[in-house]
Amino acid sequence: MGFGSLNKAVLFFEKPFWGIQEDIFSRLSETTEARGECFQFFAVPKEPVLIALISGTAANIGDGPENDKLLKNRTMLFLRSTFPNCPVEPIEFIVTRWHRDKFARGCYSYVSVDAQDRDHEVLGEPICDTHGTPRIFFGGEHTLCRWPSTIHGAMLSGMREATRIADTFYGTLPVVAHEELISKVKLESMNGVKRGEDCDVKIEEESDIDFELSDDDPMTGENIDEKEAEKLLA
Ligand SMILES: Cc1cc2nc3c(=O)[nH]c(=O)nc-3n(C[C@H](O)[C@H](O)[C@H](O)COP(=O)(O)OP(=O)(O)OC[C@H]3O[C@@H](n4cnc5c(N)ncnc54)[C@H](O)[C@@H]3O)c2cc1C
Repeated sequence: MGFGSLNKAVLFFEKPFWGIQEDIFSRLSETTEARGECFQFFAVPKEPVLIALISGTAANIGDGPENDKLLKNRTMLFLRSTFPNCPVEPIEFIVTRWHRDKFARGCYSYVSVDAQDRDHEVLGEPICDTHGTPRIFFGGEHTLCRWPSTIHGAMLSGMREATRIADTFYGTLPVVAHEELISKVKLESMNGVKRGEDCDVKIEEESDIDFELSDDDPMTGENIDEKEAEKLLA
């Protein structure tokens, strides 16, 4: 698995010189090394501001103002050659350097050519103690193969680990819904009704759903006392 950067260059102008109906435009570079340099531009709505994406090897922007200047000059060369009304210089030019941030060291994981199918899952596996009980848990966008490199992937991995921790220390909580609710939901899906505003079938109040604790405490293997179980559910 690899870990890379996606940097952004923000260019501020007096007024837009691109068609204001254009919100995204892209460019193709002439060399392989430069193909990630400002390859896509986002126009900030109602502002004379462009945000350019810098990825791949081009994202490893060196430190220092001279590197900013080189990048700015190359970007402006492209913009001037594309848009006749483009000024010589932007008012301001700001570049991110996520790879230099000591708490980030980059942006997110990617599947490199030598990566294995299970790499994400392996990184998400907890470390267990000598009894096989998970003790150290791992979340993060790099720990799930379905939606890596994304905010929602990171969030889902956190939910997965929270569930794993709860399962480990409190036992699993099988959810038993009332028959009536199950048939309503089945009917709804058979009729192709979408959940949401146009649907009058709503998930019942909490009181309509019964939760049951497993009989055994996963840590001790002993039966859980009924009163103790009620306390856990409260
Ligand atoms: C420019 C950019 C654009 C993006 N665009 C999108 C997008 O449009 N859509 C999308 O879904 N995703 C996007 N992403 C990706 C998304 O932001 C990440 O996948 C996600 O934030 C990863 O979350 P995470 O919790 O795994 O890691 P992070 O968000 O990186 O969280 C890790 C945290 O750990 C902290 N940390 C690191 N080391 C230590 C330490 N030693 N001690 C204590 N704390 C530490 C860091 O400071 C950080 O707060 C983008 C990312 C970038 C950089």
